[in-house]
Amino acid sequence: MVDFSDKMSGYSQKKLQIMVIMAHPADTFDHCGGTLMHHVRKGDHVTVVSVLQGVRVHDAVVSDQLRYTGGGQKPEEAKAIRDDRSSIKYKEVSNACKILGIEDVRFLGVEDKINLVNEPNIIAIAKLIREVKPDILITHYPKINMGIGQHPQIGTMVVHAMGFAGSIDFDDPNPAHKTAQLFFAFPDNYNFKATALDADTTCYCDVFVDVSDVVEEITRARNCMSSQQYSGNYARKSVETSFGVNGNRMRTGYAEPFIRYKPELLYYLPLPERFERWANEKEKDQLERRAYMVAPYVDL
Ligand SMILES: [Zn+2]
Repeated sequence: MVDFSDKMSGYSQKKLQIMVIMAHPADTFDHCGGTLMHHVRKGDHVTVVSVLQGVRVHDAVVSDQLRYTGGGQKPEEAKAIRDDRSSIKYKEVSNACKILGIEDVRFLGVEDKINLVNEPNIIAIAKLIREVKPDILITHYPKINMGIGQHPQIGTMVVHAMGFAGSIDFDDPNPAHKTAQLFFAFPDNYNFKATALDADTTCYCDVFVDVSDVVEEITRARNCMSSQQYSGNYARKSVETSFGVNGNRMRTGYAEPFIRYKPELLYYLPLPERFERWANEKEKDQLERRAYMVAPYVDL
């Protein structure tokens, strides 16, 4: 006889291990930092991983100065520049994550060039998944710009790695690990179609986390990224115009969007209490909540 006695059980009550695997150092917290902070406060463990060094894009020296003077440096000199810039960035990310309560911050240190989807990187990510054993994985949406670019390429590699981590690797002493759920964090092509390829891609976020209570921390975390010139007003503006926009659409102050990779199997249809309460509320109450604006005024 098959036992269906657990069919009415709801969402998991255990302490979760959440693992975020993103392309660049700042991506580890700037797509979903508020959500991660909620989980840390709840007692869950959060591990964030940046696969690439992230010095080729958004770096005040490599991407914003050297591009005018060109390459051709001796290999040791080029390596020294990359190491120097990435160590500054890693420090900033660790500080940003500290604000959000995240202590487990890892860098795979892959040099960022084009970084097409490739087997060695997938194997390295799978190894990390077998080591950390996440209940929930978070990565980039693989269909951003129809899969072209470092964000969707890393997202694609994480999906492959999640599958491969579920079986053993003879080069990895850790046992296989299957991850229960994967979420894609705030896709670049959700609110704005930046290219013709974005316009061609369907993108629908089906889960939003209300992060209105931690907007100050999210803004201060972003402000840590001076090496890529995110500090100051850009930190305020980018939080307001991304999570503020999503919050407004979801009838709250600030929200972080996600896409569920796997559909959920439940016993009852889910209805958030707030949806029930908000369905017939006064417009005045709704607009007051949506008008909550903090990011532009955070003291940095
Ligand atoms: Zn990025």
